[in-house]
Amino acid sequence: FRNMRLVRILEFPVIFLGSTPWKTPSLYTLMNYADMGMGTWYPMGGMFSVVESMVRLAEEHGAVFHYNAEVEHIHTHNGLARGISLNGQMMEADLILSTGDYHHTESALLEEKDRSYSEKYWKKRKMAPSALLFYIGLNKRINGLLHHNLFFDEDFDRHAEEIYKTPKWPEKPAIYVSCSSKTDSGVAPSGFENLIVLIPVAPGLTDSEEIKKRYFEMSIDRIEKLTGESLRQHIVYKRMYAHSDFSVDYHAFQGNAYGLANTLDQTAIFRPSLRSRKLKNLFYAGQLTVPGPGVPPVIISGYVASRQIDAYLKSTSV
Ligand SMILES: Cc1cc2nc3c(=O)[nH]c(=O)nc-3n(C[C@H](O)[C@H](O)[C@H](O)COP(=O)(O)OP(=O)(O)OC[C@H]3O[C@@H](n4cnc5c(N)ncnc54)[C@H](O)[C@@H]3O)c2cc1C
Repeated sequence: FRNMRLVRILEFPVIFLGSTPWKTPSLYTLMNYADMGMGTWYPMGGMFSVVESMVRLAEEHGAVFHYNAEVEHIHTHNGLARGISLNGQMMEADLILSTGDYHHTESALLEEKDRSYSEKYWKKRKMAPSALLFYIGLNKRINGLLHHNLFFDEDFDRHAEEIYKTPKWPEKPAIYVSCSSKTDSGVAPSGFENLIVLIPVAPGLTDSEEIKKRYFEMSIDRIEKLTGESLRQHIVYKRMYAHSDFSVDYHAFQGNAYGLANTLDQTAIFRPSLRSRKLKNLFYAGQLTVPGPGVPPVIISGYVASRQIDAYLKSTSV
């Protein structure tokens, strides 16, 4: 393609995989095909409606959910996981599938003797980017926006290098703005708009209120300039979210938002394994194991782990 806008549109999703687009294996153009050939879909009610459907389906099959509950420890004995501490209560288990951050499970929930990977191993892993996010509610409609908006008014190559080559807070980043109220009238009151601004940033950076505010102001300036609409005095809700929030809320290693990068040497068997090397009945799924980050891959990860669990249960049943 010679048109730089087309090139950027094709490159932007690839940046979340864990490398600059020009260093990413061409196999991942499959992502572009999925976007453009198969279409971009939106679940009415937002992504949380997918979660609600999965919860309903799991409960129909007998699953019980414990909300606002923190797993504090995995108890082990003789090469087997025996149970968990959940909000201070011991719960016994025949087997455990951990779908939380893999590094957190290993380093915070297991004793050193039960860990499959050392801290040295984790330090050498390449993480996919983190994200600086702004959740914004506006008490007016914005004409210049669609549901999905990519702003390439700044140097995207430089931004990509500031994520991967010389990791630092980007000088003039590309931004993505989602305005789901354009499609879904249920996500904002009538006459209001619901925005999420996303700036991909290098993992492991230190964020602060001051840094977040600076990028917030910059994003608002650019959206105002490019849409020709005033925003500031119409903001009725604002929340800023970055690395430290991902670490606190999700125990995300290095504050990552997209798990372990999908580089060639971190693909398939080169990723942390779906099954613990130390505890026969401890399994993993999610964005730090196989196949990789993204909602469809983590669902596949759960499916592949369930097949391994089936095989394990068959092998142990008499
Ligand atoms: C801003 C953003 C935009 C994205 N956009 C897309 C997109 O357009 N398309 C796409 O495919 N993917 C997208 N992704 C990526 C996708 O959301 C993730 O890859 C996916 O949700 C990871 O799923 P997971 O189950 O591995 O981890 P998570 O969704 O993080 O789930 C793990 C859960 O475990 C919990 N947990 C961790 N430790 C404990 C503990 N000790 N006790 C109890 N609970 C614990 C966490 O709180 C969390 O709820 C996006 C991600 C972000 C942040």
